[in-house]
Amino acid sequence: MILFNDFNAHYQTIADELESAVTRVLRSGWYILGEELRTFESAFAEWLGVKYVVGVGSGTDALALALMASDIGTGDDVITSALTAYPTITAIKQVGARPIVVDIDAETGLIDPNKIDDAVTAKTKAIIPVHLYGQSCDLAALETIAARHNLIIIEDCAQSVGATFGARKTGRFGRFGCFSFYPSKNLGAIGDGGAVVAQTQADFESLQRLRNYGQSVRYHHDSPGINSRLDEIQAAVLATKLPFLDTWTERRRTIAARYRAALHGVKWLESREYGQPVHHLFPIHVLKREQFMAHMTTHGIQTLIHYPVPVHKQHDYHADEDETLPVAESFADTVVSLPIYPELSDDAVDLICSVVNSYQPA
Ligand SMILES: *Cc1c(COP(=O)(O)O)cnc(C)c1O
Repeated sequence: MILFNDFNAHYQTIADELESAVTRVLRSGWYILGEELRTFESAFAEWLGVKYVVGVGSGTDALALALMASDIGTGDDVITSALTAYPTITAIKQVGARPIVVDIDAETGLIDPNKIDDAVTAKTKAIIPVHLYGQSCDLAALETIAARHNLIIIEDCAQSVGATFGARKTGRFGRFGCFSFYPSKNLGAIGDGGAVVAQTQADFESLQRLRNYGQSVRYHHDSPGINSRLDEIQAAVLATKLPFLDTWTERRRTIAARYRAALHGVKWLESREYGQPVHHLFPIHVLKREQFMAHMTTHGIQTLIHYPVPVHKQHDYHADEDETLPVAESFADTVVSLPIYPELSDDAVDLICSVVNSYQPA
């Protein structure tokens, strides 16, 4: 069986390092907001090329905290993509703001910058571009639109750790960049975790208070807040993994190239020349998707759909029954993701390609 994700194989590649990191935390007797977190925050900041990183409880919280730090809440609209992992929407709703979704580009699956102007209202405060599947959105186009309407940009980098736009990594463009360390992400913790990148010291300090009950000095609560901290075990695990991330990303790129060279009869997503993707996922479009997935399962290969239901068709979204976003809808109906992770062998990739190529929709 070729699994869609193989967390055990991943763990085995650096088992000794991970176990000693976890043991170190256990023996330290210090589990929240300590040395491990400070070490990871500064290592991640240096790797990204930024000054300010704040470790938080999850990617969803990273987005919610960035919105709070931007004073966005009840009465405000936030624009994002109709095709994203739903937590992007959860975070917007968590702070009381209203998500407004925009249709996608058919070739990339990313928010279509040409459709944003029409979605802006007097209440719109921010755009959350989602660098879906590991590919950066067109940040130059988004910066122009944001400047035109006086909106802030908060990047959803949950799937794009290390992806570039021009010479810079995603997460360095918006007022905030939000990362997830959910175990299946390219840089995965052994539980929940996330981080927010800030551009200014004022935003950095406000995030540090917000994640820790609004506390500035111990027992002094000068602003609202929540409890959302990256714990010492997760920070130690992430700091252990970070030095390997570039190698893992290279392997993902090699696998993606191998897929592109060998697959035929299916459409995969275009990579844009403005930057380098990190291939968090490898989605393709197929005819008769259920039949395709059954064919793959029969040959021992797991596939998943990212994502089967666009945001505006979710019950939790303030559904306007008539809202149609045709590109996102047809995309969601035909997309399916093939396994892609560093531990996947060339033989496994070749086998997946031959099984995909042998598919004959009835
Ligand atoms: C995973 C993910 C999130 C949420 O991250 P969590 O750590 O699971 O809260 C948000 N947005 C996108 C695009 C994601 O893929």
